[in-house]
Amino acid sequence: MFLRMLEYKLMFLGKQFLKIDKWFPSSKTCSKCGNVKEELKLSERSYKCEFCGIEIDRDYNGALNIKNIGKEMLKY
Ligand SMILES: [Zn+2]
Repeated sequence: MFLRMLEYKLMFLGKQFLKIDKWFPSSKTCSKCGNVKEELKLSERSYKCEFCGIEIDRDYNGALNIKNIGKEMLKY
């Protein structure tokens, strides 16, 4: 219901509605290098990548991943 309302509002504003795969590991993926962690506990509030060394807020990292997926989807 919420998604349908959101889609309608976006259409009304001339915006596009995109849905990403619910199984996409947005929290476990590094938004900088794409490395995917095996595990990320809910108690870990920052994302530390052992591959590229980035350390950022876990929710911000997840949001960047979702934004990047959306950008990729718009290319096609
Ligand atoms: Zn990384």
